[in-house]
Amino acid sequence: MAHTINSSCTSCGQCVDACYVNAIVAGNPYKITDDCVDCGVCADVCPAGAIEG
Ligand code: SF4
Ligand code: SF4
Repeated sequence: MAHTINSSCTSCGQCVDACYVNAIVAGNPYKITDDCVDCGVCADVCPAGAIEG
């Protein structure tokens, strides 16, 4: 089960830079694709606490 981004996302883009498999796409909110390997790095960098999983 991939990580997910909830409505608290402020579209800051920091998670995209953190994801080494390029599994996050820009939007409002941003979205995580099936390429996610559940490493958890994006959740650690998200200043809004918007990433779950
Ligand atoms: S780091 Fe958090 S707030 Fe910023 S774009 Fe990613 S999910 Fe949204
Ligand atoms: S959990 Fe890891 S692989 Fe999945 S979107 Fe976040 S940084 Fe990318």
